Amino acid sequence: MNPIRLIGLDFDHTLYDGVHSLARVRPWFERLHRQNIKLGLVTGRTFGSLQHLFEADGCPWGDSFPDFAICFESRILNPDGKSIEGCEEWNRRRDADVEDAHNIIERELPAWKRKLEAEGIVCRTTWLDSNYGLYMEFASLKDSSAACEKLGVLADPSHSLRFVRNYSGLSIHAKNRSKGPALATLLEAWKIPQPEALVIGDSFNDLCMMNGDYHYQVATVANADPVIHSAVSKKNGIISDKPCSHGVIDIFERLF
Ligand SMILES: [Mg+2]
Repeated sequence: MNPIRLIGLDFDHTLYDGVHSLARVRPWFERLHRQNIKLGLVTGRTFGSLQHLFEADGCPWGDSFPDFAICFESRILNPDGKSIEGCEEWNRRRDADVEDAHNIIERELPAWKRKLEAEGIVCRTTWLDSNYGLYMEFASLKDSSAACEKLGVLADPSHSLRFVRNYSGLSIHAKNRSKGPALATLLEAWKIPQPEALVIGDSFNDLCMMNGDYHYQVATVANADPVIHSAVSKKNGIISDKPCSHGVIDIFERLF
């Protein structure tokens, strides 16, 4: 097996269960930092919300963790919130694509919602952010799956959008500005070969970095979507039988 020089961690439902402290993983952050392994987050969240959550749990941000934060699924940042050297061009083009996608979504959304409602699929919340894309929350996984399928067909194929279901949510983003290619860009900037990176994720928005499009090593937690379990099996990665951060710690214990 290749040595691991960088680890990209998804945040929600992988490292964080929404309730419990992040502090239990902190000794591992320090240990991996001492071993010179780059450790960071690859998440749909904003930079500010991550920093806040870690600091509220007594993990000073940027002090041994993280070495990087890929936020909004694809913005490659240092712990100080600035672009990582060598990734400025990616971030610039990514921002332009996200802006285009935002304009399309803003224009199309009312019609999409009407068509979903006509089929009895009611969206509970929509959150449209110019730096991210659209997030829609549905009453159930069944509804988010149906909406994902329906909107994928409704959307104009000339619009470069990507539809990703995540539990009962559905995100709509700029195509090709997702976690998989963002991580590839960071690895190139840091001259780390893909097989020397490990990614740990749990859901559909992680699939693009775990499904074999890239040569990353992969691992996942007990609570992950069956689609992720199957992607990890295919790549002979570790599937922990423990959930969220307990699973992440279990993976670290087995590998390091
Ligand atoms: Mg997740």
